Amino acid sequence: MPIQRRARDANGNIIEPMTLAWCRALGIRSVDATCDRCRYQATINAERWPDEMPVPDVGLRLRCSRCGSREIETRPNWLEYRASGMGGPGRDRVRKDGVYRVSRS
Ligand SMILES: [Zn+2]
Repeated sequence: MPIQRRARDANGNIIEPMTLAWCRALGIRSVDATCDRCRYQATINAERWPDEMPVPDVGLRLRCSRCGSREIETRPNWLEYRASGMGGPGRDRVRKDGVYRVSRS
């Protein structure tokens, strides 16, 4: 089943998705990606893509590193948003806990 990349309201109108520019304004620089076929999850650094790109469309550029599927669902990495709200070097702090990893490319 294809992934729904656009949410719709009660009247069936497409709701504009969150863009990378919006994420960046909140301190979020990466997206959580989930493979729709094997449920493999990864955190992807989104800094290489332009501001106007909708977050759900990042998945169109990805391929699952486990099963090779291109059915990838992406959402903002909210962990990073909360981390930046803690003050101090949030990204490093979360990384030490081992729950967050940015892929360098
Ligand atoms: Zn997969």
